Formats: sequence, C-alpha cells, structure tokens
Amino acid sequence: MDEALLDARARVLSDLHASGAADPASVSALDEVVAGRRWWVTSWDEAPAYVAGLVAQDLQDELLEERGRWPVCPRCAGATHALYIHPDLGGLDPTWVCEETGQQVAPLGRLSGAAAT
Ligand SMILES: [Zn+2]
Repeated sequence: MDEALLDARARVLSDLHASGAADPASVSALDEVVAGRRWWVTSWDEAPAYVAGLVAQDLQDELLEERGRWPVCPRCAGATHALYIHPDLGGLDPTWVCEETGQQVAPLGRLSGAAAT
C-alpha cells in the first residue's frame, strides 16, 4: 500500500517540478493529500492501482484555493486553462488532458519541462 502512495507522490511531485510549481507550500500540500488518501488505499484490493490519479486531483483542488489552476496547459500558447486527469475519479493510466482541446498532453508523472510561460 505504501508503495502505491510513494509512487503516486513521486509522479505528482515530478509534475510539480516540470510545471515550475514545486515549492515548500505545494510540496507540503502534496504530502497532506497523500496522507489523506492512506485510508482509501487500504479500502479495497485494487485501490492502489487507482490512487495516483486521485492524489493528482486532490492536489489540484488544494492548489486551486491556494494558488490557482495547476497545472496550466503547456500545449496551448498563452494558455490560462488547466489540464485535467483522465479518467476522472480514479482510473488506470491517469493522463493529463487539455481542458480546452481535450487532447492528451502527457501521462501523469511525465509532464515535460517545456511549460508555456
Ligand atoms: Zn490547452
């Protein structure tokens, strides 16, 4: 179970770095989100496979209040819209998708560092 949470944390942290949003506040928000999912991950056998996408979504909710949309779409020039996780509500192979175009941008944990400014 811990392995799944550590993996989820690593993937989301990597995307925080790639999008230039990794700072003490966002990383501690991530740690809180991961801790908050600990009970969930033990709630059913297949939960560990689904937890990464949920951790990412939880963090999006947290950051929305603190600093606004994250991650801002790196694909569209001058974008102010965010990416969202597909499939919603937890699923296998969580992927970042552009809110505007619906195009897949990157798998969770693989956002590129070439974020638009
Ligand atoms: Zn976009």
